[in-house]
Amino acid sequence: MYLKRLEIVGFKSFADKTRLEIPSGVTAVVGPNGSGKSNISDALRWVLGEQSIKTLRGSKMDDVIFAGSDQRRPLGLAEVSIVLDNSDHSIPVDFTEIAVTRKLFRSGESDYLINKSSVRLKDVQELFFDTGLGKEAYSVIGQGKIDSILSVKAEDRRAIFEEAAGINKYKTRKMIAERKLEETDRNLLRVQDILQELA
Ligand code: ATP
Repeated sequence: MYLKRLEIVGFKSFADKTRLEIPSGVTAVVGPNGSGKSNISDALRWVLGEQSIKTLRGSKMDDVIFAGSDQRRPLGLAEVSIVLDNSDHSIPVDFTEIAVTRKLFRSGESDYLINKSSVRLKDVQELFFDTGLGKEAYSVIGQGKIDSILSVKAEDRRAIFEEAAGINKYKTRKMIAERKLEETDRNLLRVQDILQELA
């Protein structure tokens, strides 16, 4: 699976529809200070479901919508789409191409789409679960993140490797199974109490 296209319109400095075709291999984005390079990685985080406006370098969510310039009026909608090549089916769905879109209107209304169908944020998160591409994953390493990765506690670092190895889903299932076992133990205890009362 790899990211093959990013489409941005109305997001931060990208007032006009901008389509970035990303070939396989290494791609570098270069440009003068303030030209919008980091806005591209912000767009990527945002479409993956980022909820923290601080992480997106703003103070309120509609700061991601184009705020206008000397020549242009502000826009009312930010829209970002990513297209992933899934011909290796590393995301376990039938599609060989997956398009994920996030929209935000200035009115506050928002929408997520997977292959043009409206979905919940949870569906987007689940789609990327254990792929290394989720918003909590290591796929977007922001400025300063390298330092924090190097300096965090060993357990936190281990979590990064576990996400990369794809074992998080098993850990989650184990946790759910353990909770059910605890609940069953509690129920058994109650049944024993009732049986004793009746004896
Ligand atoms: P540097 O090399 O200095 O890190 P950069 O190329 O990464 O810069 P960005 O931080 O991506 O640049 O872009 C900053 C520009 O984006 C600023 O000019 C800022 O005014 C503009 N910008 C950010 N949010 C909005 C918005 N909502 N509407 C319009 N422009 C915006």
